[in-house]
Amino acid sequence: MLDLIMRDARLADGRRGVDIGVRGGRIAAVEPSLKAEAGQVIDAQGRLVTAPFVDSHFHMDATLSVGLPRRNRSGTLLEGIALWGELKPILTQEAIVERALAYCDWAVARGLLAIRSHVDICDPRLLAVDALLEVKKKVAPYLDLQLVAFPQDGVYRSAGAIALLQEALRRGVDVVGGIPHFERTMEEGRASVRALCEIAAAQGRLVDMHCDETDDPMSRHVETLAAETVRLGLQGRVVGSHLTSMHSMDNYYVSKLIPLMAEADLGVIANPFANMVLQGRHDTYPKRRGMTRVPELMAAGLTVALGHDSVMDPWYGLGSGDMLDVAHMAVHVAQMTGLEAMAACFTAVTDNAARLLHLDGYGLTPGCHADMVLLDAHDPVEAIRLRATRLKVIRRGQVIAQAPAQQSTLTLPGRPASVSFRRPPLA
Ligand SMILES: [Zn+2]
Repeated sequence: MLDLIMRDARLADGRRGVDIGVRGGRIAAVEPSLKAEAGQVIDAQGRLVTAPFVDSHFHMDATLSVGLPRRNRSGTLLEGIALWGELKPILTQEAIVERALAYCDWAVARGLLAIRSHVDICDPRLLAVDALLEVKKKVAPYLDLQLVAFPQDGVYRSAGAIALLQEALRRGVDVVGGIPHFERTMEEGRASVRALCEIAAAQGRLVDMHCDETDDPMSRHVETLAAETVRLGLQGRVVGSHLTSMHSMDNYYVSKLIPLMAEADLGVIANPFANMVLQGRHDTYPKRRGMTRVPELMAAGLTVALGHDSVMDPWYGLGSGDMLDVAHMAVHVAQMTGLEAMAACFTAVTDNAARLLHLDGYGLTPGCHADMVLLDAHDPVEAIRLRATRLKVIRRGQVIAQAPAQQSTLTLPGRPASVSFRRPPLA
């Protein structure tokens, strides 16, 4: 006797007619025509069932604060950072917690059940750290929140930042962050990468740095990050987030850089929304896209994930926690419109992101946590095209969110009574 069976599912790898059996919060079986009874049966009717979406790069301490204390008039990264600096002194722990919890509600409804959030530690009160640690505990039954100690103002540029970062880790923050391109000089940027990787190595921590989030092709901290990863034996445990300078780098240099990144098994996270609106701001025309080289990095065997980065905060006023929106934007920005390339963008907001977060028990195989999302789509490409409705969101075998299929009714003579944006069968 099982707790739940999801029948007639299609999986992201193309398998059809699959039944997924759940017992005790874990996946017990994944096979066609599963012969078992269950307390609850959901008929997927051939629709796509995926492991939950994972956002590998987010800022939950700032989310939903747009307009406080004012709007970002220029829309630039630097005004966003300045605005965040104005907001920080007037933040309260309660307000951060409330906004973060509201965002997590959106996330759950979107089938987004794991988020890596950076949290700014350049604040002697560590207010946001305490707030997000509280949120992490509160949402744990339904969402995995992983926190990165993020020195927004630079570890050398901001007094006492290293000590604050260490204190944040001591209080329960998981991952070591950094922002080398924001330090005062290239040399201080390099030194920050070395110092932060050494802290991570000494404490057995993962690393995820905002790295080279600039259009300056000479911003090459990713090289130091890869070299330090190899020197300290941190292969597979370090992520470079953004890496936008790679968009503008000399091709010859990149031909040497990518193999070094592969040697370090460096994770890569691109953030297509932020990159599209924050990069290329000093350009006239033509304007650069400013997203890192996603298809080339994937082709070199690196694990590449896509993050949302911001939702309704000082840097980005839009968004609703929808990782299919992120994948949709990436498909366009990176011109990944080939069939396999589009499917790879789906993987970048599911499996690849889970790998970079070192999530335990993630996936749709027996023994994994019974976490899954039933989408109103038949394959990953259709899911991206429609930003498909999450019909059922399941955590540990329990339905925690659901939504009706999207459909519009029509009143047109001689035409169907409704449309659902599915392509009609080909003649
Ligand atoms: Zn970020």
